[in-house]
Amino acid sequence: MKFFLAGEWQDRSRTIAVANPYSGNVVETVPVASSDDVEAALASAVEGAKVMAALQGYDRYRILRRCGELMTERTEDLAATLSAEEGKTLAESRGEVSRSVQTMELASEEAKRLGGEFLPLDGGAGTEGKLGFTMRVPCGVIAAITPFNFPLNLVCHKLGPALAAGNSVILKPASDTPLVALKLIEILLEAGLPPLAISCITGSGSTIGQAICADRRVRKISFTGSQEVGEQICKVAGLKRVTMELGSNSPLVVLPDADMDLVKRATLMCGFANAGQVCISAQRLIVHEDIHEDLIESLTPGVEAISAGDQLAEGTQMGPMVRTSDAERVHQWIHEAVDQGARLVCGGDREGAVVQPTILDNATADMRVVRDEIFGPAVAVLRAPTVDRAIHMANDTNYGLSAGVFTKDVDAAMKFAKQVHSGNVHINWGPMWRTDLMPYGGLKDSGIGREGPKYAIDEMTEMKTVVIHTQS
Ligand code: NDP
Repeated sequence: MKFFLAGEWQDRSRTIAVANPYSGNVVETVPVASSDDVEAALASAVEGAKVMAALQGYDRYRILRRCGELMTERTEDLAATLSAEEGKTLAESRGEVSRSVQTMELASEEAKRLGGEFLPLDGGAGTEGKLGFTMRVPCGVIAAITPFNFPLNLVCHKLGPALAAGNSVILKPASDTPLVALKLIEILLEAGLPPLAISCITGSGSTIGQAICADRRVRKISFTGSQEVGEQICKVAGLKRVTMELGSNSPLVVLPDADMDLVKRATLMCGFANAGQVCISAQRLIVHEDIHEDLIESLTPGVEAISAGDQLAEGTQMGPMVRTSDAERVHQWIHEAVDQGARLVCGGDREGAVVQPTILDNATADMRVVRDEIFGPAVAVLRAPTVDRAIHMANDTNYGLSAGVFTKDVDAAMKFAKQVHSGNVHINWGPMWRTDLMPYGGLKDSGIGREGPKYAIDEMTEMKTVVIHTQS
């Protein structure tokens, strides 16, 4: 595929091969952008920002709404592209397309709601005759940098609110999964987006991504990805607004009065969806010691029954990881934990990029499967003697994106909600739950700022204060 730069689809002689992670077959190639291309993207985005700011909110609403309609019509093509490049099953890809449509619809509505506030200036001394109000204006040029694991919906979470607010955008999708993002650009243009409002260039994040983020013409960076890269971007960003949606090793706490069937369902879903490559996967299962044995026993058959393999084959429930090198890393972490004393309850094998769904019992805080973000299909089980200890263990991490607790005791649930260091808290479900309208983001090393179109749009606009000095 070509990339879209300065109002045109363009090719380059150097390309990146995008491969199906299960078969290794090349699906497509995309161009490698040069530093001249970055400059062209920045220059055209400056012009695009003027075009976007001049559009009425209603026009921006109509473009995004039409985009959602076209995405719905092309669900099968988008889902097939997603599965081929990312490795998620077709059912998971269809789910992502449907969520992406909702994200665009929500963003389109926000284009009509960019309001301000009447300021009660007469509350200040010596303010006779003054009238004040605020208004929200676009930031200008926004850089959007996205990860591989939700290559459509996370792009929509950036482009939707950015365009709804009247900005232009330079998108740098993940090199593993750029194809569905480029298809979204085709759809946006067909829906009527002014061509200069968007550039989507492909190439290595550490070169072109970094150069875009460092440039002073960019007024806002919206990044989703790993903590390490998020920190690098913050270092080069200088005086810009940043939203950072970063990683986690989310806890799921199970107290003795939990509904065990629900816990089982939640763990299967939250631990293994998208082969564990979700920023809010349940990685640490912290179980009260009274029910620990029973839970492991009842959970194991369900995990063993997950059929893992070719994401495009009928009946596959869990696809490969995005890269064989990542599968090798996860496999190594699992076996390192076993060497350190964890018990392999099930899984632990790897073939190519497919890691069998894994449960590790007797995990401890110093193991990498507990301490770091594993981003793979493995759940580490730890025991806790009390609620307080379980909360302490849940907080024993630099991350804080999402956390879940299972209990019927309202007091225990509320104690958890208040004391757990986490941007999202789920009571009687695991950490992996999100609907796209809610505010979503992390504490501590999991990030800065919130997404969800209504909240992202706040971060993608600037507030101006206007005072009218009347003589009456
Ligand atoms: P990475 O951080 O490796 O990459 C994310 C994006 O950043 C890619 O487009 C990458 O480009 C680009 N990039 C890499 N280096 C730089 C740089 N120096 N400057 C600018 N851009 C750069 O993440 P992954 O794609 O591996 O995604 C997995 C991570 O994303 C996990 O940590 C996960 O938790 C997190 N995530 C967080 C979410 C949240 O909402 N909090 C949601 C989903 C994922 P390239 O691909 O070319 O290297």
